[in-house]
Amino acid sequence: MYDFSDLKCYNCQSVILSLPPMEIAKLNGLNFHCDCCGHQNLLQDFKFVKNPNIDPYINVFSIDSFLLSPKTI
Ligand SMILES: [Zn+2]
Repeated sequence: MYDFSDLKCYNCQSVILSLPPMEIAKLNGLNFHCDCCGHQNLLQDFKFVKNPNIDPYINVFSIDSFLLSPKTI
């Protein structure tokens, strides 16, 4: 039995990830690219906040790469 939490884009409020809190905790501090609007979201304390450090080449994971290679995270 899992509680799933929706993580919504800071910018457009579309759901980017839906994961149990345990999994979300592992991803804390990572950046996620919103497929809807292209916004870079920083995962912090179980929610997405605006990324203060916009650099697309550092520590950015799209949903696709996250799903394709979960063991690298
Ligand atoms: Zn968005």
